[in-house]
Amino acid sequence: MLEQIDRFLNDKEFVNMSSYKTDAKSGKPIKYLQDTKKALWERFAEEYPNGMRHTSFMICLEGGQYVYRENLGGLCSTCNDCGYMVFGDIGKRLLTKLQELCRYIRREYSKELEVTAAGIAVHNSCISHCIRHAFRDCNLNHPVTCSKCESIFSFFEELKAAISEEYFEILDEYQQKLIAWMAHHARKIYLNIHVRTNLEKLDEEGTVMIVNYKIRILPQSARETKTEFFGKRG
Ligand SMILES: [Zn+2]
Ligand SMILES: [Zn+2]
Ligand SMILES: [Zn+2]
Repeated sequence: MLEQIDRFLNDKEFVNMSSYKTDAKSGKPIKYLQDTKKALWERFAEEYPNGMRHTSFMICLEGGQYVYRENLGGLCSTCNDCGYMVFGDIGKRLLTKLQELCRYIRREYSKELEVTAAGIAVHNSCISHCIRHAFRDCNLNHPVTCSKCESIFSFFEELKAAISEEYFEILDEYQQKLIAWMAHHARKIYLNIHVRTNLEKLDEEGTVMIVNYKIRILPQSARETKTEFFGKRG
């Protein structure tokens, strides 16, 4: 019974573990639950129909180690972890757009990057989804920018229109960081597939050695500067 909930609460689909924050009381790492308690319970009951009862499940979620969606006031765990600053009222529409963008970068963007099981990157007509392009290895055209990727730019434009000029510089910096973060996801996907491919090739006499080193692939970003980016279109 406890094993089930343990497995559930360690599944990355439901829980994100903070790499450095710990609960002061238990000393255990803070875990960010990816959904509300109610939604988590529904997922759990679906997965383990004969498992733990509702009340016991809720008791397992008590305690300072877990941070829930509803505790974060609309921020995702990454925002909460990285810190945030208050600009003033940017309006509900922009806030919704921000949440969508945030979700896109965190969860959806990397799913659209395609690498075959053999570890070969696949071309995509949206420039920021083409891993081959990122490795300067794509001669095909990238005529599309999907609306999700475009929103990284339009969001910041709209935000700038809504707030004072004194924040522009820091906003540009944040935008660059977001783009770097997307690049990080792209590298991660690519590397993970290579690790898996190598593991699958492993025979009884082989060894797979994983060396953790700083990734430095000379990147060709689709997003160097905005002018360059728009210049590439069409
Ligand atoms: Zn967030
Ligand atoms: Zn391409
Ligand atoms: Zn895109």
